Amino acid sequence: MKNGTCPKCGSESIYCGDKIPLKNGPFGSNSIPVSILSMAALDNYVCTDCGYIESYIAEKDKLKEIVESWRSLRTTETNDETGSE
Ligand SMILES: [Zn+2]
Repeated sequence: MKNGTCPKCGSESIYCGDKIPLKNGPFGSNSIPVSILSMAALDNYVCTDCGYIESYIAEKDKLKEIVESWRSLRTTETNDETGSE
């Protein structure tokens, strides 16, 4: 999606809302809770042909917070994805 092509319909009519104001504003209308005191703003990518949306965390610092505080789905048994490339 970030490369400008819709993964669902193949359209190249992709629009990115990363510059819109208030995405991290008082209403939290375009953000997700990371912890009780922390919200992460999202950048939305929309395909204007089929309406598909992808959302990405806008700030790298929030990704670090998630690594530190969220539950990983990767178990210790299957932790073999790193270093394979
Ligand atoms: Zn599409």
